[in-house]
Amino acid sequence: MLEICTLGTGGTLPLADRALSSLYVRENGQGFLIDCGEGTQVGIRKLGWGFKCLDGLAMTHFHGDHCTGLPGLLLSLEKAGREETFHIWGPQGLKRVVEGLCIIVPKLSFPVLLHELPAAGDTFEIIGLKVKAFPVDHGGIPCFGYRICLERAAAFDPEKAKALKVPLEDWRKLQDGESVRVGLKKVRPEDVTGKPRKGITVVFSTDTRPCETLRNNLPGADLVVLEGMYGEEEKRPQALKNHHMMMAEAAELAREAGAGALLLTHFSTSLEDPEACLPAARDIFEKTFAASDGLTVTLRYPKEEENAWTSLC
Ligand SMILES: [Zn+2]
Ligand SMILES: [Zn+2]
Repeated sequence: MLEICTLGTGGTLPLADRALSSLYVRENGQGFLIDCGEGTQVGIRKLGWGFKCLDGLAMTHFHGDHCTGLPGLLLSLEKAGREETFHIWGPQGLKRVVEGLCIIVPKLSFPVLLHELPAAGDTFEIIGLKVKAFPVDHGGIPCFGYRICLERAAAFDPEKAKALKVPLEDWRKLQDGESVRVGLKKVRPEDVTGKPRKGITVVFSTDTRPCETLRNNLPGADLVVLEGMYGEEEKRPQALKNHHMMMAEAAELAREAGAGALLLTHFSTSLEDPEACLPAARDIFEKTFAASDGLTVTLRYPKEEENAWTSLC
């Protein structure tokens, strides 16, 4: 099971009920964040998932609405008693930006390890999740989308265990990942498992025009969280000029990719009621939803050949 929470759904500037960009991802009691806009630590307090279990942060890019919450977040982590290393990933320039933001928090009780990602992106692991950073088109500013995968181990196959004459009392060991001996033969856990099973995939990408790298990284996703900066058609010139995306464009991408569901976020301050623009987006891709601050979504393992079940649908 994978859980996400859109802590902040505002773009550029906050509104009274809309903090700036941040997503909390939680799996098996551990968490990490994507983006840390102003108000992130307030959102985490309201949510109640805690600071202590947060192991890292991946930043999309360094516009203020995505990173100015960092000093406060680090102070909250310290107050929560953190001693373990906290990891931060982001585009080139990460070191300079984090060092600048952290002038006001010079001493922390825990180490912060910075990982500047190459321009072409990279894959890393955090809290047992595989995360792929891929570059997107934000008008020449280094900016990443993130594809988050919770993989699922293949299931134990009792028929294979029987065929290899593994005694019943050793099945548990194999299920727990241990090898066992059957006479002179060694039986490994992978000898008694079935086909690989589909895990859960979530893609998060804001501050981009629709582009090839984004398109390439959407197929197979159970949930795509994309920016819906503008809803009304008359805002299209602004979307083009500022290198942002229309809700309709996000819906087209989700439809093309066959995504399980689309959750729109990163709304312009001019978009007072994102829900009002949903019908037009749903004409393109039916399973389109508008995020709000503090919205949580639970994704559970799918049955064969299906998308993961999400609490949105
Ligand atoms: Zn932004
Ligand atoms: Zn931006």
